[in-house]
Amino acid sequence: MVRIDDVSKVYRTGGEQVRALDGVTLEVGAGEFTAVQGPSGCGKTTLLLAVGGLLEPDHGRVLVDDEDVYALPLERRAQFRALKIGFVFQQFHLVPYLSVRDNVLAPTLALPCAGVDAHARVDALLEKFKLTSRAAHTPGELSTGERQRVALARAMLHEPRVILADEPTGNLDEINAATVLGALADFAEDGGTVLLVTHDSAAASEADRIIRIDGGRLVDDRDEGSRQDGQAAG
Ligand code: ADP
Ligand code: MG
Repeated sequence: MVRIDDVSKVYRTGGEQVRALDGVTLEVGAGEFTAVQGPSGCGKTTLLLAVGGLLEPDHGRVLVDDEDVYALPLERRAQFRALKIGFVFQQFHLVPYLSVRDNVLAPTLALPCAGVDAHARVDALLEKFKLTSRAAHTPGELSTGERQRVALARAMLHEPRVILADEPTGNLDEINAATVLGALADFAEDGGTVLLVTHDSAAASEADRIIRIDGGRLVDDRDEGSRQDGQAAG
């Protein structure tokens, strides 16, 4: 569960001020896949960073699994983030000199006692994302679709409660985009919380719910219905 309660963020650079988020309130429940869609520069990445415990808002609260993220001291917040949240980015952010397998395992370096048998789980995830034969390869030897599947496996290794995805299909062709969005939908179906931010209406349409954002404000909250009865366009 993610609860964003009246969150605002202003960037101050030199004399300039940019109001990136302006009173955003939003709840995404367990088992829910929500997309926040809007044009470039409207505050999507800022929102995701704020939810993920990486960027403290000027105002408002962020709750993840009922924990007030920014009330936690820095070190506990980092542990909480590593335990509860998986991130997926447009640019993959894989470590170029590590193998696929070690990239997926990389979060265990930061969080060795997560209570998950990481080595057993990595094999299952590589299998799930059709990467078993690529386990020893480095990211530079992979297609973009394969790279994003590695990033998904890494995000899911610790069985997080929440996945935050920032334009995860931005560098992918249609087939790989569908694989990534399908994996996010499966994660929600299994009880996880997914918050996807994107400018792309086709990607957003795979979510259960699309919320539009413009100029740092949510402008529309349209319920797309559940996946069983709601056939989203695109
Ligand atoms: P989006 O992801 O929707 O493209 P962002 O959240 O990245 O939007 O940015 C929202 C606004 O905040 C934009 O006007 C952007 O230029 C500005 N912005 C983002 N990051 C910073 C930063 N670190 N410093 C100053 N301004 C920023
Ligand atoms: Mg962005």
